[in-house]
Amino acid sequence: MSTAGPLGLDPALLEILACPAPDHGELRADVDASTLTCTVCGRTYPVTDGIPVLLLSEAVGGPDAGPDGGSSDTTGG
Ligand SMILES: [Zn+2]
Repeated sequence: MSTAGPLGLDPALLEILACPAPDHGELRADVDASTLTCTVCGRTYPVTDGIPVLLLSEAVGGPDAGPDGGSSDTTGG
């Protein structure tokens, strides 16, 4: 009777959800990782108890996630 979509999210909800980033990209549900991934910027958002946490502060990856290792100036090879 209940038609739950991926990650327990309502398919209609997925239709209206969008990336909180300025790109407002479409979100793709990743069932294996229990996350939502923006198809535009590539940020990944966690889904907790069927509630997508669409916060930039909670996002993983994306264009901002560059080579931020900390220590640098180390050449190997
Ligand atoms: Zn995005």
